[in-house]
Amino acid sequence: MMAETALDVQTDSGNAERRCAWCGEVFTPAVHNAKFCGSSCKERMRFSRHRIARIEAVREYRKTNRDDVAARSRARYQKFKADRPDQWRSFVERMSVAVMEDRAENPEKHAERSRMWKRRRAAALAVSLLIAPIQHHPET
Ligand SMILES: [Zn+2]
Repeated sequence: MMAETALDVQTDSGNAERRCAWCGEVFTPAVHNAKFCGSSCKERMRFSRHRIARIEAVREYRKTNRDDVAARSRARYQKFKADRPDQWRSFVERMSVAVMEDRAENPEKHAERSRMWKRRRAAALAVSLLIAPIQHHPET
Protein backbone atom coordinates (compact mmCIF):
# COMPACT_ATOMS: atom_id res chain seq x y z
CA MET A 1 0.00 0.00 0.00
CA MET A 2 1.42 3.37 -1.02
CA ALA A 3 0.36 5.24 2.10
CA GLU A 4 2.04 2.61 4.26
CA THR A 5 5.30 2.86 2.34
CA ALA A 6 5.32 6.64 2.63
CA LEU A 7 4.66 6.36 6.35
CA ASP A 8 7.51 3.90 6.83
CA VAL A 9 9.86 6.52 5.36
CA GLN A 10 8.38 9.19 7.63
CA THR A 11 8.95 7.20 10.82
CA ASP A 12 12.65 8.08 10.50
CA SER A 13 11.91 11.79 10.86
CA GLY A 14 10.73 11.66 14.48
CA ASN A 15 7.39 13.19 15.28
CA ALA A 16 7.05 15.09 12.00
CA GLU A 17 3.63 15.91 10.62
CA ARG A 18 2.13 13.14 8.51
CA ARG A 19 -1.06 11.99 6.92
CA CYS A 20 -3.38 9.59 8.70
CA ALA A 21 -3.26 6.17 6.98
CA TRP A 22 -7.03 5.95 7.13
CA CYS A 23 -8.61 9.41 6.68
CA GLY A 24 -5.65 11.26 5.13
CA GLU A 25 -5.85 14.11 7.64
CA VAL A 26 -2.50 15.79 8.42
CA PHE A 27 -1.62 15.42 12.09
CA THR A 28 1.31 15.76 14.48
CA PRO A 29 1.81 12.42 16.23
CA ALA A 30 2.60 12.03 19.92
CA VAL A 31 4.78 9.00 19.17
CA HIS A 32 7.19 8.60 16.24
CA ASN A 33 5.51 5.50 14.76
CA ALA A 34 1.89 6.70 14.85
CA LYS A 35 0.10 5.95 11.59
CA PHE A 36 -3.35 7.20 12.49
CA CYS A 37 -4.66 10.56 13.68
CA GLY A 38 -6.68 8.84 16.40
CA SER A 39 -7.91 5.57 17.80
CA SER A 40 -11.12 5.73 15.76
CA CYS A 41 -9.15 5.71 12.48
CA LYS A 42 -6.97 2.88 13.79
CA GLU A 43 -10.09 0.88 14.62
CA ARG A 44 -11.63 1.62 11.22
CA MET A 45 -8.52 0.34 9.44
CA ARG A 46 -8.45 -2.79 11.59
CA PHE A 47 -12.15 -3.31 10.91
CA SER A 48 -11.76 -2.98 7.14
CA ARG A 49 -8.79 -5.37 7.00
CA HIS A 50 -10.89 -8.21 8.31
CA ARG A 51 -14.10 -7.30 6.54
CA ILE A 52 -14.05 -9.96 3.82
CA ALA A 53 -13.10 -12.67 6.28
CA ARG A 54 -15.90 -11.61 8.63
CA ILE A 55 -18.55 -11.44 5.90
CA GLU A 56 -17.54 -14.86 4.60
CA ALA A 57 -17.42 -16.36 8.08
CA VAL A 58 -20.88 -15.06 8.97
CA ARG A 59 -22.33 -16.27 5.66
CA GLU A 60 -20.77 -19.69 6.12
CA TYR A 61 -21.99 -19.89 9.70
CA ARG A 62 -25.53 -18.89 8.76
CA LYS A 63 -25.55 -21.47 5.97
CA THR A 64 -24.28 -24.36 8.07
CA ASN A 65 -26.06 -23.52 11.35
CA ARG A 66 -29.57 -22.65 10.27
CA ASP A 67 -31.12 -24.08 13.43
CA ASP A 68 -28.82 -22.08 15.67
CA VAL A 69 -29.46 -18.91 13.68
CA ALA A 70 -33.21 -19.47 13.95
CA ALA A 71 -32.91 -20.19 17.69
CA ARG A 72 -30.90 -17.01 18.25
CA SER A 73 -33.45 -15.04 16.29
CA ARG A 74 -36.28 -16.50 18.36
CA ALA A 75 -34.36 -15.80 21.60
CA ARG A 76 -33.73 -12.20 20.55
CA TYR A 77 -37.40 -11.79 19.77
CA GLN A 78 -38.44 -13.30 23.11
CA LYS A 79 -35.99 -11.01 24.94
CA PHE A 80 -37.38 -7.99 23.13
CA LYS A 81 -40.88 -9.12 24.06
CA ALA A 82 -39.94 -9.57 27.74
CA ASP A 83 -37.74 -6.48 28.16
CA ARG A 84 -39.86 -3.94 26.29
CA PRO A 85 -43.48 -5.14 26.27
CA ASP A 86 -44.85 -1.78 25.17
CA GLN A 87 -42.51 -1.51 22.21
CA TRP A 88 -43.12 -5.14 21.38
CA ARG A 89 -46.90 -4.59 21.35
CA SER A 90 -46.70 -1.63 19.00
CA PHE A 91 -44.19 -3.53 16.85
CA VAL A 92 -46.54 -6.48 16.56
CA GLU A 93 -49.50 -4.25 15.83
CA ARG A 94 -47.65 -2.38 13.15
CA MET A 95 -46.12 -5.46 11.57
CA SER A 96 -48.42 -8.41 11.80
CA VAL A 97 -51.84 -6.99 10.97
CA ALA A 98 -50.82 -4.87 8.01
CA VAL A 99 -48.23 -7.27 6.61
CA MET A 100 -50.28 -10.43 6.97
CA GLU A 101 -53.29 -8.86 5.29
CA ASP A 102 -51.18 -7.41 2.52
CA ARG A 103 -49.31 -10.68 2.07
CA ALA A 104 -52.58 -12.60 1.73
CA GLU A 105 -53.87 -10.13 -0.83
CA ASN A 106 -50.69 -9.67 -2.85
CA PRO A 107 -48.50 -12.81 -2.63
CA GLU A 108 -46.63 -11.90 -5.84
CA LYS A 109 -45.70 -8.45 -4.51
CA HIS A 110 -44.16 -10.02 -1.40
CA ALA A 111 -42.32 -12.63 -3.42
CA GLU A 112 -40.90 -9.80 -5.55
CA ARG A 113 -39.93 -7.87 -2.40
CA SER A 114 -38.14 -10.92 -1.05
CA ARG A 115 -36.22 -11.29 -4.33
CA MET A 116 -35.36 -7.60 -4.21
CA TRP A 117 -33.83 -7.94 -0.73
CA LYS A 118 -31.82 -10.96 -1.86
CA ARG A 119 -30.49 -8.94 -4.82
CA ARG A 120 -29.65 -6.02 -2.51
CA ARG A 121 -27.72 -8.25 -0.14
CA ALA A 122 -25.83 -9.81 -3.05
CA ALA A 123 -25.05 -6.35 -4.47
CA ALA A 124 -23.87 -5.07 -1.08
CA LEU A 125 -21.54 -8.04 -0.70
CA ALA A 126 -20.23 -7.61 -4.25
CA VAL A 127 -19.49 -3.93 -3.57
CA SER A 128 -17.71 -4.73 -0.31
CA LEU A 129 -15.62 -7.36 -2.09
CA LEU A 130 -14.73 -4.81 -4.79
CA ILE A 131 -13.62 -2.02 -2.45
CA ALA A 132 -12.06 -4.20 0.21
CA PRO A 133 -8.86 -5.14 -1.75
CA ILE A 134 -7.99 -1.41 -2.04
CA GLN A 135 -8.03 -1.11 1.74
CA HIS A 136 -6.55 -4.55 2.25
CA HIS A 137 -3.30 -4.58 4.13
CA PRO A 138 -0.40 -6.50 2.53
CA GLU A 139 0.52 -8.16 5.85
CA THR A 140 -2.82 -9.94 6.17
ZN1 LIG B 1 -7.55 9.66 10.67
